[in-house]
Amino acid sequence: MAEVLVYVDHVGGVVRKPALELLTLARRIGDPVAVALGEGAADTAGTLAEHGAVKILTHDAAEYAEYLVVPKVDALQAAVEQVSPAAVLVSSSAEGKEIAARLALRIGSGIITDAVDLQASDEGPVATQSVFAASYTTTSRVTKGVPVITVKPNSAAVEQAPAAGAVEALNVTFSEQATGTKITSRTPRESTGRPELTEAAIVVSGGRGVGGAENFALIESLADSLGAAVGASRAAVDAGWYPHTQQVGQTGKTVSPQLYIAAGISGAIQHRAGMQTSKTIVAINKDPEAPIFDLVDYGVVGDLFEVVPQLTEEIKAR
Ligand code: FAD
Repeated sequence: MAEVLVYVDHVGGVVRKPALELLTLARRIGDPVAVALGEGAADTAGTLAEHGAVKILTHDAAEYAEYLVVPKVDALQAAVEQVSPAAVLVSSSAEGKEIAARLALRIGSGIITDAVDLQASDEGPVATQSVFAASYTTTSRVTKGVPVITVKPNSAAVEQAPAAGAVEALNVTFSEQATGTKITSRTPRESTGRPELTEAAIVVSGGRGVGGAENFALIESLADSLGAAVGASRAAVDAGWYPHTQQVGQTGKTVSPQLYIAAGISGAIQHRAGMQTSKTIVAINKDPEAPIFDLVDYGVVGDLFEVVPQLTEEIKAR
């Protein structure tokens, strides 16, 4: 079976969920070969093998942490030359898309970004994309070189599939450009203790109906009772009530959790574009005609200032 390279996003050896999702998709089109770089790369091996990686190529060097993406592109290019894969899969983070685009250019390949599904075909992997604020679904296939495909987080369920997971050293020679842009400082975002928005199994989002920054405490309490991430509509973000990092939608993040709860959100197409693939959608809105009710599994017509606290209390009591 052909090998498929999977670029592994990890923090100090802890593999992030989108990388495990890529392994699930990679298994549909071949044998996953994971590429883990930087500090802790070798520590990813156990997790990656449990999720289907037949081989794990690792390389650690200070350059990965000290410079922007080019060292990682150099390493992926080396992996492509070492493995001759049927495809390269990268998660659709801002960094992932930059790495993938640069890699495709380097190796003279076609690229597909923001795929939401992947299937095998005799001519190579076929990627599904959701376009124009999710009004259309397109399928496409790379026709030149080794397909480079970025996949949106939450596009596939993480599945365990124990595999050999042999660790091999990747031989990397950094290019002249690798040290072109140095990272001069890093300021970690203050931790809220909540899961990352795009990786969370449950997301509770608030919109203009929340009425002010201070009222987002209600949304946060509900989220905390469920172990959920907090999202916001653009109206709430533009009003300065919640940070842009938490915006869900066309110009925000795409989420696809098991459960999405929208409180005081009307359901504009640009908001839907970021959440409509959620497995179960619940809306709380005082307007029975709100368009969000067209796509929900469960709808509560009511004032969120009454419904949300009651719901939070009920969940906490269980
Ligand atoms: P509104 O549409 O004002 O809806 C508020 C809702 O709250 C109403 O349905 C109301 O009935 C309800 N409500 C009010 N009070 C209460 C209460 N007490 N209890 C219960 N319900 C109540 N939007 C995004 O969200 N994400 C994006 O990424 C995004 N990108 C965009 C990109 C472009 C190019 C454009 C043009 C627009 C984009 N938008 C985006 C904006 C989008 O069109 C909507 O304006 C926005 O989603 C509306 O946010 P909202 O639903 O919170 O506010």
